[in-house]
Amino acid sequence: MPDMTTKNRKRSEQIFARGREVLVGGVDSPVRAFGAVGGTPVVADHAAGAQLWDADGNAYLDYVCSWGALVLGHAHPEIVAALAEQARRGTSYGMTTELEVELATLLRKGFPSLERVRFVCSGTEATMTAIRLARAATGRDLIVKFEGCYHGHGDGFLSKSGSGLATFGIAASPGVPQATAALTLNAVYNDLASVERLFSAHAEAIAAVIVEPVAANMGVVPPAPGFLAGLRELTRRHGALLIFDEVITGFRLCFGGAQTLYGVEPDLTTLGKIIGGGLPAAAYGGSRELMERMAPVGPVYQAGTLSGNPLAMRAGIETLKRLMAPGFYEELEEKGKVLAEGICGALAESGRVGQVQRAGSLLTLFFAEEPVRDYEGAKGSDTKSFAAFFHAMLDRGVLLPPSQFEAWFVSAAHTQENIRQTIAACRESLEALRA
Ligand SMILES: *Cc1c(COP(=O)(O)O)cnc(C)c1O
Repeated sequence: MPDMTTKNRKRSEQIFARGREVLVGGVDSPVRAFGAVGGTPVVADHAAGAQLWDADGNAYLDYVCSWGALVLGHAHPEIVAALAEQARRGTSYGMTTELEVELATLLRKGFPSLERVRFVCSGTEATMTAIRLARAATGRDLIVKFEGCYHGHGDGFLSKSGSGLATFGIAASPGVPQATAALTLNAVYNDLASVERLFSAHAEAIAAVIVEPVAANMGVVPPAPGFLAGLRELTRRHGALLIFDEVITGFRLCFGGAQTLYGVEPDLTTLGKIIGGGLPAAAYGGSRELMERMAPVGPVYQAGTLSGNPLAMRAGIETLKRLMAPGFYEELEEKGKVLAEGICGALAESGRVGQVQRAGSLLTLFFAEEPVRDYEGAKGSDTKSFAAFFHAMLDRGVLLPPSQFEAWFVSAAHTQENIRQTIAACRESLEALRA
């Protein structure tokens, strides 16, 4: 287990300094720069199971797990072997493979609403295309999203979109044409009345409502009872499509999605992260009727050189097969629960007020006075305390997502012992905040 002293990160610092000379901000995705917590970003060297080692050889218990993609943890030996075998057979063909058919079949097992799917390389591509399809199918232009929900970096999604933008205090992004931004309407998460108002104000102009069925990009905010069913009813009544962005929740909470768990079926679903098993794969899908508007069957265009990449398909198949093992999700749920209870206990001991919000193996400790139901609530958190807590945890060998507005991801590779160590680190870290 990692030591309890402030770590030597000299080599990481050097690599990051060199990185800044060639990569924008030293990173390829903004949150990796640790902007919200300060200090030298972790420069990853290698990882196995629940542990990640930085360039200086320091070990961390990893609760980022590639932002949730690695539900089985890092470098699962059998998946690594399958990938090595696939690499020898070729890494990309630009032709259809049986692997795509197999992974699509597995997706449909978990998501009966996916009569047809299309694989792409990133969640961003999946959500962008789902919106294009929704507009084509309805002949309408407006999109409703929720403040604090993140759907990738497509132009139309970059307003009040939680996660990285919240971390950096960016409300909307320059470079998005005003005409495009004007087509996105923001509603309040867990507030059906706010959606209803938008439908009243823009009758027969809204193509789709897109939502994270469990919000995980403003920190974890589960849907209030009736919220998802209410969205289903409202969209149906107004002739709009309902899109569940299950890029995080897909195969995270059960073998299926939040739609399985909450019994609400959307028109379109987007998937990513877990379905690629740590390689770049994502997908969108829905009813045959809707999906067959896409080329080559229909006129709506979308394509990709590396779409359905055989390495990514293989990683996805091998991952999903293991998720079907009896008791897999019960065990993961139990770990999430023990961790959440442990953090609550540590909070109580420390006399600090915080909110531990959880859905299965997704959880966030908000430094907030009240339970967080929406983006306003999330933004009210004490991000300074979070930053101090983050570093106290890092010093104790626990790598949390470096922002208050992200979910911690527990993987199947985290052992009960790891969870106990994490709770102990939490207790010490909260204590250290008092000092
Ligand atoms: C990560 C994420 C995306 C974007 O996926 P990328 O693969 O990073 O483009 C979209 N929606 C949700 C809910 C996500 O968490």
